[in-house]
Amino acid sequence: MKRRTKQREIILATLSGANGPLTAEELWQQARAQSNNLGKATVYRNLRLLVQEEDVQEVHLPNESTRFEAKFTGHRHYFYCEKCKNISFIQATCPVAALDGVTLPSGYKIRSHSLMFYGLCVECD
Ligand SMILES: [Zn+2]
Ligand SMILES: [Zn+2]
Repeated sequence: MKRRTKQREIILATLSGANGPLTAEELWQQARAQSNNLGKATVYRNLRLLVQEEDVQEVHLPNESTRFEAKFTGHRHYFYCEKCKNISFIQATCPVAALDGVTLPSGYKIRSHSLMFYGLCVECD
C-alpha cells in the first residue's frame, strides 16, 4: 500500500495537469498556488519519494536541469520555447519512423531517441 498524503496528491495533480515537464522549482510554484502552506522542502522531499515509487518520472533533456512529469508509458516529444524557456509536450505521431532503414555501423541497434523542437510558444509569438 502506498502512502498517499495530501501533499503528494497535490504534486501528482499538478504534474498531471501541466502541459509539459516541470522543474522542481516550477512544480513548487504551481503546487503552492493550490495549497498555500506547501513548503519547498516538502515538495522536494515528496517529489523524490514519488520518483522512487515510480509515480513520477524524471525527464532529462539536453542542456536542461532535470524535469519531472507524471508517469507516462508512451513515447513523446517536447517543444522548447526560446523566449520564455517553457517546455511543453507535443502530441503528434512520432516522425522518426520515417528514418527507418537509417544506416548504422554494422551491429548497432537503436533502442530509443529523444527529439526537441525549438520555436516560440503561443504566448510569445
Ligand atoms: Zn514562450
Ligand atoms: Zn519519437
